[in-house]
Amino acid sequence: MTTTTPTQSAQKTALLIGASRGLGYAMAEELLKRAWHVMGTVRGSAQTPLHALAQRHPGRVDIEHVDITMPDHIAALRSRLDGRTFDLLFVNAGVTNNQSETIGEVSTEEFTRVMVTNALSPMRVLEALYDRVADGGTIGVMSSGQGSVANNTNGMREVYRGSKAALNMFMRSFAARHGADRHPMVLMAPGWVRTDMGGSDAPLTIEDSIPNVVNTLLAVHGNPGLQYLDYLGRTVPW
Ligand code: NAP
Repeated sequence: MTTTTPTQSAQKTALLIGASRGLGYAMAEELLKRAWHVMGTVRGSAQTPLHALAQRHPGRVDIEHVDITMPDHIAALRSRLDGRTFDLLFVNAGVTNNQSETIGEVSTEEFTRVMVTNALSPMRVLEALYDRVADGGTIGVMSSGQGSVANNTNGMREVYRGSKAALNMFMRSFAARHGADRHPMVLMAPGWVRTDMGGSDAPLTIEDSIPNVVNTLLAVHGNPGLQYLDYLGRTVPW
């Protein structure tokens, strides 16, 4: 007979989309420290830091596979998750491009790559996996401070900014459509962080950002509706 201790039955589970490395991986590591169970996704078959994390924490990390730009991958992931629910669904995956390239210079292919990956694909993931979020569970997406229209006074990173602003707008529509369901929803601005994407000039380390990102995501529990927040829990102007 299987017995379940109170601790096990109360354990929270997160699904992190894009947890192979960088900020998504660090979120997985941080949630483990807080006694969560984590399912993290990677793409491809290569070993990643997430695989090593799973080995260091036997039974506490599940690894799944999805390339968020591939609708058939999303559908297959959704069907593999039948019967599972999550207390936190967070889509972290994203890409950037040459930050000095203006909207007048970018090729249609590059524009499409960034917009499809950063704006369309996270929303497709949320649409597909929404019914896997537990009652009152939190839905999050990694946006960026660069996605703020109000704060864009100096340009730069034009295409990336546009992709995150579009993501923010799609999330507002999603939240409006699902308002009655009373899920807390967060568009997260993690700060400029030293990762492969953020580069070595970024002022924040992963340790500066991610424990605070997780604090902020956990703090919205019980507060339904969409917020655009930075890693310290401060509201970012749209
Ligand atoms: P990163 O080190 O480049 O990691 C990007 C992550 O996204 C990797 O796990 C990558 O998986 C995954 N990914 C990319 N395209 C994907 C796809 N099509 N399907 C599935 N996964 C995909 O970047 P990061 O700095 O950790 O950034 C993570 C998120 O934070 C992004 O959304 C980014 O825009 C946002 N952000 C970052 C900063 C910053 O300063 N670093 C600031 C604001 C916002 P692979 O390993 O398979 O490539």
